[in-house]
This record gives sequence, C-alpha cells and structure tokens, in this order.
Amino acid sequence: MNRKNLLLTLVFCAVAAAALAQPHRQTSDHHYRRSLSDVLNQIEERFGVTLKYDIDTVNKPVFYADFRIRPYSVEESLTNVLAPFDYKYVKQGEGVYKLKSYEYPRRTEEDGQKMIAYLNSLYNDKTSLEERKECLYKEVREKLGIDEPLEHITGNKPILSKIRKYDGYTVQNIALETLPGLYVCGSIYTPTSKGKHALIMCPNGHFGDGRYRKDQQERMGTLARMGAVCVSYDLFGWGESQLQVGATGHRSAIAHIIQAMNGILLLDYIMTRKDIDPTRIGANGGSGGGSQVVLLTALDNRYTAAAPVVSLASHFDGGCPCESGMPVTMACGGTNNAELMAMFAPRPLLVVSDGKDWTSSVPDLEFPYLQRIYGFYDAKDKVTNVHLPDEGHDFGPSKRNAVYDFFISVFNLDRSKLDESKVTIEPESALLSFGDRAEDLPANAIRKFDDTTIYFGTKVTSHMKSDAAIERKAQGWVASLELNDVKKEGYVLTLIYNHLCAVRDWHNNHSYTLVPEGVNPHNGEPLSQLDREMIIDSTMPAEVHNKLMNGMRRVLTEEQVEAILDKYTVGKVAFTLKAYKEIVPDMTPEEEAFVVENLKIASEKAIDYKNMNQISAVFKMYKNRIERYFNDNGRNWRDMYRDYNEKMKAEKKKKEQQ
Ligand code: ZN
Repeated sequence: MNRKNLLLTLVFCAVAAAALAQPHRQTSDHHYRRSLSDVLNQIEERFGVTLKYDIDTVNKPVFYADFRIRPYSVEESLTNVLAPFDYKYVKQGEGVYKLKSYEYPRRTEEDGQKMIAYLNSLYNDKTSLEERKECLYKEVREKLGIDEPLEHITGNKPILSKIRKYDGYTVQNIALETLPGLYVCGSIYTPTSKGKHALIMCPNGHFGDGRYRKDQQERMGTLARMGAVCVSYDLFGWGESQLQVGATGHRSAIAHIIQAMNGILLLDYIMTRKDIDPTRIGANGGSGGGSQVVLLTALDNRYTAAAPVVSLASHFDGGCPCESGMPVTMACGGTNNAELMAMFAPRPLLVVSDGKDWTSSVPDLEFPYLQRIYGFYDAKDKVTNVHLPDEGHDFGPSKRNAVYDFFISVFNLDRSKLDESKVTIEPESALLSFGDRAEDLPANAIRKFDDTTIYFGTKVTSHMKSDAAIERKAQGWVASLELNDVKKEGYVLTLIYNHLCAVRDWHNNHSYTLVPEGVNPHNGEPLSQLDREMIIDSTMPAEVHNKLMNGMRRVLTEEQVEAILDKYTVGKVAFTLKAYKEIVPDMTPEEEAFVVENLKIASEKAIDYKNMNQISAVFKMYKNRIERYFNDNGRNWRDMYRDYNEKMKAEKKKKEQQ
C-alpha cells in the first residue's frame, strides 16, 4: 500500500469509526432508561404472568431496561430487572410471582451449601471445633445484647395458679415477673408419678392460637404423662404478653432478646423445684419455637437434649424479628442456625424436617454437616433426623411422635403412657394467669410497649414507639365496633395497623420534592406543596389499599366497614352530608343518594393519605363533583350557597339582638 492509499484508508477508517461511535455515544447517554413500573407491566403482558407487589416503584429507573429481558425466561428477566433495586421474586403458583424486598434472614439453598462448605473448612477435629464454639457462645451473647436486661431482672417468685389434675399429669399456670412489671406467662405440665422428673422447656412458635392450641396441649400432656415436666410459654407480644405490650412488642427486635431471657429465667425458676433431675433437661419447639431451641441451647449449657422441629436450616434464620431482630448470625465473622445447633455436640439432638418448607434441605445438607461435627466426638449416633418429605410446616402427629420417641429414648420416659387421647384439652381461658382481658394483671404491670423500652438501647426501640402509637389508635377503632370476638378483633386490628403503617411509611419515604415544581394543568396555578404531596402519595401501590378493604369486607358488615372508614376520616361523611342538607333544604331522595355515594367514595379514597389537609383535599374533589351535579340538574349551586350564607348571617344577627 502506498502512502496516499494508506492515508485514504486511515481517513476512511476514522470516518467509519466516527460513524459507528456516534450512535454508541448516544446510547450511553440515553441508557435505554424506563421506569420500573413500566417494565414490570411489560413483563406481565409479554409473558402472560401476574406480578403481585407492594414494593416501591416510584422514581426507580431501570437502565438498559429492554436488554434485561430474556425472551425465553420470565424468571431470568425478573432477576435482571429487580436486582439493581435489591428486590427479588418468589414464585407463588403457576404464572404468579410475588415481588419482595431483599430479606436478610432468608437465603437460597445454594447459599446454605456454600456456607456449610465454608464452616466445614474452619474445623476438622474436636479441638478446632471447641475453639470455634467458645467464640460463638461469647459473641452470640454480645450480638443478642442479653446481658444488659439481665442486670435489671426482679428475681421475684412467680405467681402460680391452683393445680388442675388430669389423667397422669397436672397443669399449673405460671406468671413470672422478669423485668419490673413485665410478665412471661405459661403453663407447667407435671407427671403425677413420684420421684425426679426430666424437664423439657417448650417455647411457643408462631402457629395460630399459640400455646393454647390443641396439638401443643397434646404434646405437653403426653410428655408429662410419660414422665417429663414440660414448661409451655408465650412468645413476647403473643398470648397473654400481647395484653401487656401489644403485637407491636412482637414485631420489635426486643422480642428476640426478651424471649431468650424468658427461657433462661423460667429455667432458673423451675430448676429450684425438688422434683427436677438436672441431668435430663431438654428443649423442644416447632418453627419459631425451634429457632428459640437453637438460641437457648447456645446461651445456656444446662440443656442435655434438644429437638428443634420444622425450623433448623443453614439458609433461613427465621423471618420474624423475634428470631432475626438482633444480629446473632454475625457472631464470629458469620454463622447460622445449623452451626449454632452443631455446637450442641455431643449431646443428643433430634432434627425434624419436612418436604414443603425451608427444612427440605436438611437430609442432604444440614444433617450430614451435623453428623460430621458429632463425628469429632465419636457421637454420630447421638444426632438424628426424622424427615417427612410429604409433609408441610406444622407440628402434626408424625412430628409429635418423632419427638416422643426421641425423649423416651434419651430421657428414659415411660412409653407405656404414650396415648394422646388421655390428654384433656383445656379452654384457652383455663391456661391464662390474668384473665381474658388481662383484668387480673398486678397493679405494677407494664401495660404498653413503650414502658419496656427503657431497658434497651434506643437504637433497638426508637421507631417502635411510633408503631406502638399507631397500634393504640387502631385498637381504639376496633374496640368501638364492639365485636366481642377476640380472633376477629385481632384480624381487623392487624389489617388496620398494617395499612396505617404503610401509609405513614410511604408518606415519610417519599418527599413531595420527588414531584417537580410545575403548574396544575386544570387551573394554570403553580403546584402547591399539598398538590405535590397528594401526587406522590397517590403512587402508593393499590395492593396496600385492597388488602385492608378486602380483608375488612371479608369479616365485617358494610356498616362496620363504614364505621372504620369514618374513624380514618373523622366523621367527614356525616358532617358534610348535614351541611349539604342545610344548603339544599329541599334535596330530593335521588340527589341525596348521589351525595352520599360520592362522599363514601371520597372517604374510602382518603384513607390512603396521612394527614388531615390531604384528607380534606380528597373530599374537596368529590364536593366539586357533587356541586357540578346540582348545577347540571337544574339547580344553581352558587345561589343556594349564597342564600344559605345570608340565612346564617341573619340568624346570627337575630341571636345577637336577643
Ligand atoms: Zn416471632
């Protein structure tokens, strides 16, 4: 190639490169940006799936949006689109996906495998394991923060009920004052046989009806009949504890600490009884109760046997604040429930798992890991796994039988007494220490969540105070319905509480400045701060509203639903209707029906707004519609309103003259 040709070639290449570069530069400026909600709508349409979500999609641009879609896979497309926002999907059924925020206590089974492999690399014999154990036991305490409240415990003797006698066992209720004014309540099931008994601590989990439910009573009574004292006690903020601190208490990280403290203090008390054999102390619980078994055995070396049921996994710590509220799994550079339970070696351990929840991985993942650890002590036979592949997340008969077999074997209980039909199922009221409505609580008792917070750092409790205030408001509204049905009350209370919190959080997390300054296209006026607040708050996902309304309509009458809406909007429907009737004294039934219908719609719309100015603004929109209706139907709103005002003025004058 001669010089000239080379030059031409270079120029040509440069031009070609520039031509190619130009669109490239444009794309990197443009980023193929689209809004998240737009992209999600497109995914629904394209793949014919339903996406359910109340995740925040406001002001969330997806860069290179279309390039993230994989035409052959809705799941890969969702992963690509959601990952930048720390969102994920959970498949709920064929073609139905729930979009959720990142969940720190819940990982994937693959994560569990990697974590177990990593943990296995940390120890290869008893000595190295014992070193790790020492670190874990020390740091779990620290991360949980349990030593601070333990400095404030009362040391008081428990309040014990009369003993109720049944076939081969007795039941006695216990209320133990832990921190001043704070009680943990439970029931003690004791064998009627003489001599020293094994003891099994049975913290409650999250199954409906708590420790009062039939299968829990069957398990307690049966173990007692066979020779073990069983202590069955409430979660914090559940059962009788809910009557002290509300359900808010359970949603706080404090629950994690208090439940562990309750387990330690109840064990302290029961060990003072002369009929307890200190060489046979067990822990058993299902689901959230199983999470407590893991923690209690890590905090307290008095336990000699343990049986967590449908709970233990390496990739799920339990999603409730009472299980994951405090960063216990951050101990010693990172741990998980499987490792904490492994530290129980070489003492007897039963792990019950099933095929339909997160414990489905136990036979292939967690159990072999536990066996390896127990092997360091030549005690592989001391750890067992009963896996029920066709069963789900409950404490059903086969799980209870596994627990019976285990404790019969390790505590030498009397198998001949194994007969659940001999257990008397007591009504919930019989198992309470302080009555259905906590009417018998001692005078010094704490009666709201805020009062427990003084024993804990403000970091743990600050935002809970606002939650507690919302809960009290919701409680007042529900009480006004006089439902006389504790379950229904609890259900409606949770619906309203969740809705009020969601409205508050949406409002607080979305400043009106997210809406640019600009003009209102209807009147040309600049948008006010209220306008911009209304716009941004109106972007709250409809699911929040629908959950409340559908839930209420399922269990309440339409009048009761309206009564709750009236609480939200401080009686505006009735108040405004009254005013209309005064302004339009000869209002026809047809007109009144239109007014009422629109005010009711306004009321239901207004509940999704946080403050009174916003609620009034929603009503204003519907009042405008009503007034237009009068004008369109042969009346003159302005004249009627003027006449009404003049009449008012005249009446006022008349009064002044009298
Ligand atoms: Zn919980």
